[in-house]
Amino acid sequence: MLTPSAIAHVLGASEISAWGPVAIDGFVGPGHVSVVIGSRPYEPFAKDYRKPVVIAGFEPLDLMQAVLMLVRQVNEARAEVENQYKRAVTREGNREAQQAIDDVFELRTSFEWRGLGTVPDSALRIRSAYADFDAARRFGLDYRSVPDHEGCECGAILRGVRRPTDCRLFGTACTPQSPIGSCMVSSEGACAAHYSYGRLKEPLAAQS
Ligand code: SF4
Repeated sequence: MLTPSAIAHVLGASEISAWGPVAIDGFVGPGHVSVVIGSRPYEPFAKDYRKPVVIAGFEPLDLMQAVLMLVRQVNEARAEVENQYKRAVTREGNREAQQAIDDVFELRTSFEWRGLGTVPDSALRIRSAYADFDAARRFGLDYRSVPDHEGCECGAILRGVRRPTDCRLFGTACTPQSPIGSCMVSSEGACAAHYSYGRLKEPLAAQS
């Protein structure tokens, strides 16, 4: 998924979302994506939506510093794109990598994602010049829409208006070993991360 399209969809959908406005104060820009695309594509989110963005590396200290930078922006009512991962990310990104991606892939005008629904300009497809490498074409695979489980709250969680523990399936029917929704599939998903780490703080909170 193309990160700027995903952020734009989450923010833009707030007006029409059944869950109401998004409850997101700012965004951590993913370091690996940002190495390629640079920090420039995030600028509209700060300028037009007034949402701070901090691009972060993946080491624990990178993320902690990025969160601190975000908190400072929120506390000071600033909305800027800041780059915590300066050792790898520039404003323009890696132009050679961008060119290589552009040579091989073209933009899809829309694509359906689990948890987010159909998002315009959010995915790539292999160009016909490289069709021999495209499994969907080689094996004649047709697209089939798969609806999300009716009890899954991923859409609301991705918009910040529900927490993983608000989902009645969290940690019971839905676990990383047996995921039901997209937020539990990858270890980076909000539900999977909360399942692995978020629960650790609950006993500490209870002690205080
Ligand atoms: S716990 Fe599972 S079913 Fe519930 S919102 Fe998360 S991914 Fe969806």
